[in-house]
Amino acid sequence: MSSVIVMQLRYAFRLYPDTGQRIALSRAFGCARVVFNDAVRAREDARKAEQPFPKAGELSTRLITQAKRTAERSWLGEVSAVVLQQSLRDAETAYRNFFASLKGTRKGPKTGPPRFESRKDARQSIRFTANARWNITDSGRLNLPKIGAVKVTWSRTLPTIPTSVTVIKDAAGRYFASFVIDTDPAADATRMPATDRTIGIDLGLTHFAVLSDGTKIDSPRFLRRAEKKLKKAQRELSRTQKGSKNREKARLEVARAHAKVTDARREFHHQLSTRLISENQGIAVEDLSVAGPARTRLAKSVHDAGWSSFVSMLQYKAERYGRTLVKIGRFEPTSQTCSTCGVKDGPKPLDVREWTCAACGTVHDRDHNAAINVKTAAGLAVSACGAPVRPGAFPAQREETGSHGFPTEPRAA
Ligand SMILES: [Zn+2]
Repeated sequence: MSSVIVMQLRYAFRLYPDTGQRIALSRAFGCARVVFNDAVRAREDARKAEQPFPKAGELSTRLITQAKRTAERSWLGEVSAVVLQQSLRDAETAYRNFFASLKGTRKGPKTGPPRFESRKDARQSIRFTANARWNITDSGRLNLPKIGAVKVTWSRTLPTIPTSVTVIKDAAGRYFASFVIDTDPAADATRMPATDRTIGIDLGLTHFAVLSDGTKIDSPRFLRRAEKKLKKAQRELSRTQKGSKNREKARLEVARAHAKVTDARREFHHQLSTRLISENQGIAVEDLSVAGPARTRLAKSVHDAGWSSFVSMLQYKAERYGRTLVKIGRFEPTSQTCSTCGVKDGPKPLDVREWTCAACGTVHDRDHNAAINVKTAAGLAVSACGAPVRPGAFPAQREETGSHGFPTEPRAA
């Protein structure tokens, strides 16, 4: 039986630092970046000199403790030492991932060697761990060492005391606090009791997703509206003159609109994935990361990016709530096979929305039929006997990103 487990989740909230706090934050971002870059440089120098890599403790002494005493780096003393230590750890993690990727022991796409960070990077961040003496004040502000008590919009309640907080400034100039929380398995089991329902999900051509029960799911209006605004902002940007003041303004407007689309899409994926996980014990999806021999569904590739982040949400939520997620390869001819009699009817052009099976005469909606086939291919269709889920399905391994990576999970279910 699958069981509910403890997981680490991120909860993100908007921060509103005042002018002085913004200056202190940008100083902290800058110091963290300098230490990160010094660590990368130290390793690069060692590599070029064919020397062994300096040890973490040695780097900490050299790049933080001793550097603070020099004229060029004395300002490192103006920020929390924990922030600088975390920056060193991020550099270390980046190298570990790079070497693991080289050796092929790391899952996912290939990682390049760590690069130097720049003040021009769209995203800036610093991380405070438990020993950094940060806290939430009685009036609900986030009190950060050497920065102050920053105003927070608490859009939800934190279920437990967080173990760390990352402060992020995004491309649109917004500030966020991202807290790491350990989930509570007992509460999770109560929230989502076991069920015997199973479902197959197909990435629709004209819908975001089509379920094996026939439900068709479209992007919600709040996402479509955000996408429309982004298109408008992009059009306006293209009309401005290079190097003009208006262009800068338009660029920031595009960045803001882009951030809103990203947020809206994430919100939609969260709502939908939570609903599907809540209602079903077993969920089957197409795995778009596996390239099939014939990529017959090219038209769908525009959705692929959104689809993969949606599937990764399903994956960690399945793990969290003891559900089974089965991913089936793209090589399965889900749109060619009759879900009623199993006869392979041959490829269908993308504009064929409905077809009739030559063998059994069933009239199929293309996407609904595909969703049923996704479920069947995953072995989830044989649920009547009370064994709804296939055991040993793909455990989701979420990458813990450092404060210098991109947040994979800026908010939780
Ligand atoms: Zn048939």
